[in-house]
Amino acid sequence: MMRLPWFEYRAPRSVDEVARILAGEGPNAMLVAGGTDLLPNMKRRHQAPSTLVGLRAVEDLKTIANGAGLRLGAGLTLAQLVASPAVRAQYTGLWQAASQVATPHLRNMGTLGGNVCLDTRCTYYNQNYEWRKAIDFCMKKDGEVCWVATASKRCVAVSSTDTAPALIALGAKVRLVSAAGEREVAIADLYNNDGIDYLTRRPDEILTAVLLPDAAGWTSTYWKLRRRGAFDFPVLGVAAAARLAADGTVAEARIALGAVSSQPFLTKGGEFLAGRRLTDEVIAEAGRMVASRAKPMDNTDFDVYWRKEVVAEFTAYALKELRGDDMDAVRLRLARRALQA
Ligand SMILES: Cc1cc2nc3c(=O)[nH]c(=O)nc-3n(C[C@H](O)[C@H](O)[C@H](O)COP(=O)(O)OP(=O)(O)OC[C@H]3O[C@@H](n4cnc5c(N)ncnc54)[C@H](O)[C@@H]3O)c2cc1C
Ligand code: SF4
Repeated sequence: MMRLPWFEYRAPRSVDEVARILAGEGPNAMLVAGGTDLLPNMKRRHQAPSTLVGLRAVEDLKTIANGAGLRLGAGLTLAQLVASPAVRAQYTGLWQAASQVATPHLRNMGTLGGNVCLDTRCTYYNQNYEWRKAIDFCMKKDGEVCWVATASKRCVAVSSTDTAPALIALGAKVRLVSAAGEREVAIADLYNNDGIDYLTRRPDEILTAVLLPDAAGWTSTYWKLRRRGAFDFPVLGVAAAARLAADGTVAEARIALGAVSSQPFLTKGGEFLAGRRLTDEVIAEAGRMVASRAKPMDNTDFDVYWRKEVVAEFTAYALKELRGDDMDAVRLRLARRALQA
């Protein structure tokens, strides 16, 4: 049985108190929300913080507020997000992403903040201590070499959060609070293309909320590739959002990719679509353009070349859904195919 290492547990009740603890403890402390990723990681000795700062008693992090857009507290569970009629109706891409994270049990515990700040993943890293020791560890933890790209000076572990690409496509921001002050950043800027230093969040900052802009006139969607339809981390996530004029011309669009790099990122596909109608030819061209930006590495499930190839296909599914096509049959076919894989 894998055991947790020893740590001190703090249970603050306000954001101010969390910020004070982080300022005092420095990088030795880590935040824990639902613990669905961090605690298994600690058992595998990926992280061994001397202090864990629990966020479950911080009620301010658990609110949903309507305004010009929607403010989602970072401590909301994914199940709460999925149960929100406002999220489902206005931010469908986020709803689809959140409802495909892990399993119902894990969505009952896992939070939005924890999902956005999820550690990157890799076949050579998500293993127990003894397994990793047997290969002399790797650059991400305790070792020197990257076993995926031995000449690389950078860890290429994969960003595996489902909600982040959806939030990037929706144009969301995040609020970061520390004892020194607070700031808002576009969620795309929260990420570095580095499997180790994957967040631009400072260790003394707490992510308190996700801020979604007004969604009037926008539609959005999220398409996830994974082996098992019941639950699995994404090996590709395509998120798209668009505002269409009455004649079907794209006024504005964003297409973001997840799980094909160490960071979720915005592609040029949205800019290409602006001013065009979503014809089959335009969709196919956008798919090719988006696929050219995907750089999957051979450190997660499925064949790496096939994963790059299907990016165009998944982008086309997403855009056809935004155009108004009924894509239920395709979603069902994918789920069935995944079950047989
Ligand atoms: C079997 C299994 C399957 C899974 N499948 C998926 C999947 O399909 N898709 C997916 O996206 N995830 C998946 N996960 C990962 C995880 O369950 C979810 O990402 C979940 O949303 C993480 O949230 P949490 O609150 O449990 O995070 P925690 O484990 O508590 O924290 C995760 C990280 O975020 C940091 N953090 C948490 N809250 C904050 C905050 N407010 N401010 C700053 N940092 C913070 C923590 O310090 C930690 O580094 C899976 C996990 C398991 C065990
Ligand atoms: S990508 Fe390389 S350094 Fe990063 S976790 Fe995998 S093997 Fe380790």
